[in-house]
Amino acid sequence: MYVAGIKARRDEAADIDPAIFGTLFHLSAELAYNSMAEKSHDRIITEEMLDNLSKDERQIELFVRQAFNGELFNGKETLPSDYNGIQSINFEVICRYLRQIMVMDKLYAPFMYVESESDEFEHLISIPHPESANGNLQVRISGRIDRIDCKNGIYRIADYKTGHVEKNPNTIDDLFDNSKERRRYALQTFYYATLVHYSGKYGSKRLAPVLLYIRSSAKPSAEGIYMKMANEPITDFSGGLMNGYIAHLRDTISSIFNPEIPFAQTGLPDTCSKCDFKEICHKHL
Ligand code: SF4
Repeated sequence: MYVAGIKARRDEAADIDPAIFGTLFHLSAELAYNSMAEKSHDRIITEEMLDNLSKDERQIELFVRQAFNGELFNGKETLPSDYNGIQSINFEVICRYLRQIMVMDKLYAPFMYVESESDEFEHLISIPHPESANGNLQVRISGRIDRIDCKNGIYRIADYKTGHVEKNPNTIDDLFDNSKERRRYALQTFYYATLVHYSGKYGSKRLAPVLLYIRSSAKPSAEGIYMKMANEPITDFSGGLMNGYIAHLRDTISSIFNPEIPFAQTGLPDTCSKCDFKEICHKHL
């Protein structure tokens, strides 16, 4: 994450910071799920496949090792015995998360593993901008999507989350209300579903933004298969829901580029407490 080119400071003492941990987990999951999908017709992943792989400790460790080799050791072959203390702990945690997500996915199987870690989704949004030559500014929006899967004609646009479980939003308006605690995960996964919609890659298929909580998957439940809004599962992110989201997104982007609207510090102390930039923001001085 960075603002105006200022990157969030990496905690060197931790050796593997949250961003690298996320990359290692995503890569491990991609390797594991692609290995199952490639062995089956139409990339269908079954409950049996998930059950077998989740119990195969050696194979799971191999996928995680491959991710470590690529991301931390410049492609050099390593063994867990080569890792330092922090790396060893993260290796164990990622192996456990990988098993957990397979246990969770058994409730959803069989499904098609369509694609993962794709960053081909981008779109140009035109916003009014009085200082631009023709009164409009083209703003490129893009993102990398953790995973897209499909079952019963519904394409889930999935984002892996290893943090706390966020409450479901009640309305689209709530997501953009600065006076309320944001549902940041929902905002993000709706954004990804919007990018997929704009790409037209899946035509008129139904899109369902979802959050796959890995820590909570220790107790998997069918509740996590789809996100909910006002207690209704979102199995079709289109129509009023998506149009409302896109309208707010355009307004937000317009306000960011509007020279008459200054950037302001948030009034939500909880947001500041977790902010990567609080030491340079001067809010608390
Ligand atoms: S510390 Fe608070 S006000 Fe400052 S940048 Fe972070 S979130 Fe915004």
